[in-house]
Amino acid sequence: MTEDRYEVVIGMEIHAQLKTKSKMFCACAVQFKDKPNSNVCPICLGLPGTLPTVNFEAVRLATRAALALNCQINPKSSFARKHYFYPDLPKGYQITQYKEPLAVNGFVEIDGKKIRIKRLHLEEDSGKLIHSGKESLVDFNRCGVPLIEIVTEPDINSSEEAVRYLEELKRILTYIDVSDCDMEKGHFRCEPNISLRKAGEEKLGTRTELKNLNSLRNVREGLEFEIARQTTILTRGEKIIQETLLWDEKTKTAQPMRSKEESEDYRYFPEPDLPPLVLSQTFIDEVRKEIPLLPQARRQLLISKYQLDKNLVEIITEDKKFADYFDDVVKYCSKAQLVANWLVTEVRGILNTRNIAITEFPISSDVLAELLVMLDKQEITSKAAKIIFEEMLNSKKRPREIAEEKGLLISFDEERLMTIIKETLKENPDVVEKYRKGKTTVLGFLIGEVLRKVQGRFLPQRVGELVKKFLDEDLR
Ligand SMILES: [Zn+2]
Repeated sequence: MTEDRYEVVIGMEIHAQLKTKSKMFCACAVQFKDKPNSNVCPICLGLPGTLPTVNFEAVRLATRAALALNCQINPKSSFARKHYFYPDLPKGYQITQYKEPLAVNGFVEIDGKKIRIKRLHLEEDSGKLIHSGKESLVDFNRCGVPLIEIVTEPDINSSEEAVRYLEELKRILTYIDVSDCDMEKGHFRCEPNISLRKAGEEKLGTRTELKNLNSLRNVREGLEFEIARQTTILTRGEKIIQETLLWDEKTKTAQPMRSKEESEDYRYFPEPDLPPLVLSQTFIDEVRKEIPLLPQARRQLLISKYQLDKNLVEIITEDKKFADYFDDVVKYCSKAQLVANWLVTEVRGILNTRNIAITEFPISSDVLAELLVMLDKQEITSKAAKIIFEEMLNSKKRPREIAEEKGLLISFDEERLMTIIKETLKENPDVVEKYRKGKTTVLGFLIGEVLRKVQGRFLPQRVGELVKKFLDEDLR
């Protein structure tokens, strides 16, 4: 995409919505399914005479995020008013952290590279404008919802790296249960800034900002568009204008925002109604203990403990609940490789077709493990296991019960198997004739016929051996 002589420099600002029950500075519910403007009060509307109070749960979640992202927590941080006038911001200012943020100097590691995090701070969200026809409506339910803003240093050098960073950040925030990070619902919003510089140069080029990216795909496409656009301009010897661009996913182009909307002439004042936020070391240590094994550590553990393939492990650890499910199944069925294969193919297949999360998956970990143990002990064939699995999805029966009912347990009754083979050969005299004249490729067909009749009740390998024996030794 870029010509070799330019280096891409990307920095990211992320807003993640914290999973709290109430808003940042008042007791209103964080609930968007409700009717517009039903979760509002004088505080989040900023009516005169009201006083905000800090939601401590939001502070706890933000601190947990900061620690998981390797940040240093500032023992004392403070709030500021960021003034701008916009219809979805009834107060005329937003409460945010400015000079003294909650945390600084963290990093996220992707493929061995550290993307540095400059700052992480708390702030409140604004409302939402709904444009319908000639009217513009405003819903203040989102006003005052707690957010964390995470700002990186310009350490990202390609659109792929940007997407990998976002994926890992989302994974970390969901692992620690701080945010749902649903981009479509606006729980996780990202605004990258992009500039190009000649390879080897220190100084940063003029940057542009991209807004309106509500999926990782849009991030990738938006960045690629902007990198190409800037490359063309610079190659022509022209200058980049510093501006904010809106990504249009339909036309796959980015257009400058109207200048009114991008005039970022914010005036910041210290928030007079909120005292500084002071966090004790005891509190910070307590929050640190809440952090579970993070994705990267978990991936490494699975690889070293079970010698699983890296790609398989990536899929298993993509979602914390899915990784927990894996760990649970392995408790009952120690064959980790078998469990991993089943989880990423069969279980994930069902999650995808039914569009459900692992928490809604109908088979509990111990019951699935029972099936896999049967498979591992060669009590059933893998074909039978799939038939049983299908049945388990829709019934409460245990796998053994289903196997017995359907007669799917592997039989070692070879006499019965020989009878079936004889029968099959009798039904296909012409094929048998071909085999005996030297056309050995028809063997597969005959084995297939027998397998179809035995329906997973005999081990395929044994069926193959016996069919061949019959044909070769003419056991009629
Ligand atoms: Zn309120």
